[in-house]
Amino acid sequence: MEEIRSEQSHHVVHNPWDRREGDISAEEVRHFLADSGGIESHRTIRHAACHCGCIKPPGGFCSACQEMICVDCFSRCEACGKPVGPWCSGLIQNTTGQILYLCRECSSSVKRRKIFRAISFPFRMFLSLFVEFEE
Ligand SMILES: [Zn+2]
Ligand SMILES: [Zn+2]
Ligand SMILES: [Zn+2]
Repeated sequence: MEEIRSEQSHHVVHNPWDRREGDISAEEVRHFLADSGGIESHRTIRHAACHCGCIKPPGGFCSACQEMICVDCFSRCEACGKPVGPWCSGLIQNTTGQILYLCRECSSSVKRRKIFRAISFPFRMFLSLFVEFEE
């Protein structure tokens, strides 16, 4: 069969952290002239998996590791609002038993009492939910 035409399309996303573009899916269509005289078309669709391993539409890019995370695994730190993926975040329980989703920095801030005096007031108020300050 003789190939008479091909088409390629790429769905690309832009990574805001490293400023590169990456394919999230690509489609290729190749048209052939069949021996019988008709036209035969072959279409291939490729989906890239997100860094979390899921083959799902991307939800965003993790601000810590800069990887593309799918809609299900992507989230935001409940303290600072930074976009984070599952490996760069953790759950932490406050003194009232409420479970919160925090980026690594915020969860280690919560654990490290020393730095509390250096941080801004609203954030300090937020942290006071977790631990008692030593005045
Ligand atoms: Zn990450
Ligand atoms: Zn995922
Ligand atoms: Zn945070």
